[in-house]
Amino acid sequence: MIVGTVREIKNHEYRVGLTPESVHELTAHGHDVLVESGAGEGIGAHDVLYERAGGRIVSDAADIFAAAEMIVKVKEPQPDERAMLRPGQILYTYLHLAPDPEQTRDLMASGAVCIAYETVTDGGGGLPLLKPMSQVAGRMSIQAGATALEKAHGGRGVLLGGVPGVLPAKVAVIGGGVVGFNAAQMAAGLGADVTVLDRDPQVLERLGTYFEARAKTRFSNRANLAECVADADLVIGAVLIPGAAAPKLVSAEMLKTMKKGAVLVDVAIDQGGCFETSRPTTHAEPTYVIDGIVHYCVANMPGAVARTSTYALNNVTLPHALRIADLGWREAMRRDPHLLAGLNVWDGKVTYRAVADDLDLPY
Ligand code: NAD
Repeated sequence: MIVGTVREIKNHEYRVGLTPESVHELTAHGHDVLVESGAGEGIGAHDVLYERAGGRIVSDAADIFAAAEMIVKVKEPQPDERAMLRPGQILYTYLHLAPDPEQTRDLMASGAVCIAYETVTDGGGGLPLLKPMSQVAGRMSIQAGATALEKAHGGRGVLLGGVPGVLPAKVAVIGGGVVGFNAAQMAAGLGADVTVLDRDPQVLERLGTYFEARAKTRFSNRANLAECVADADLVIGAVLIPGAAAPKLVSAEMLKTMKKGAVLVDVAIDQGGCFETSRPTTHAEPTYVIDGIVHYCVANMPGAVARTSTYALNNVTLPHALRIADLGWREAMRRDPHLLAGLNVWDGKVTYRAVADDLDLPY
């Protein structure tokens, strides 16, 4: 199969669909891989590395869209890219169609086979192609929070791990799923005093078994939340109610109970945020202060560590890409219902129920 990857053109997107190592795997399977010149620059993967991996460098994205049978990307195609998609061509990338009727209509009109990373499933009921980005965001939330706690950034001047003779910072992680688990791991590793709150008893049990004495777990109800938030130096918002906006668990009133210079990192901001006072920020200006509390609410945290994020993403996207290239998408999906769950648009129709329902389109 002819597989192509192009330079991401969405603002401040430095990740790339295929690493040189992934290109190597595809070419070893006998496939032709076309790589737009400069596609990997943002992660330090220069053209020469792709050439060494057996890829062919092409200077113009349009030539790749014209020749490739499958395009592998990271972000949803932008309008210029959508105009280049062809009937029957496979598009394998994050799509997030439910809130995006314009993109959905363009993909339907293109006749392309559109597979969305975010709806591919696994045997455990998880979303394995979303998971690595949550792992990255969870781990990064502690780095971001630690920096925001420094005086120069408006924080209360507390070192997460303390030092011998001085107590460590208190970190409250609200939500113990993928983001929360990874945040707690980092914070505990630095020696902080960590409490994870969740309302799912099974999640609490898993956390308890894993962390033992290195982190505390607490059932998430109003009283416990209020107590942990008031006591914390750093609060990480990591809740998710699938398919719904994040619940506002920390109200504007509750900020008044917090220590001045404490920090809120709202990782759930991409679902609207779980603190009432959250509003999306950017890597260029990640924080703002309300009532003396520093807020960090960057909606695309993994973008800041594009290299790590690209490699983490490729680890989970490549096996499916190889199967699609080896078998063709129909046979690959016939054999793997979890890949089939990723099919969002095909032959001019929306093939993913939640997207069709949200956009009032036939399914
Ligand atoms: P997840 O499903 O693995 O975990 C969510 C957890 O929240 C679950 O354990 C659930 O029981 C818990 N929860 C739900 N309601 C709760 C409540 N009231 N109190 C306490 N816990 C509650 O989800 P995840 O992968 O960890 O993602 C968390 C959020 O982070 C999502 O909104 C996701 O979109 C977002 N995210 C953001 C970025 C970013 O760059 N900002 C990156 C990746 C993920």
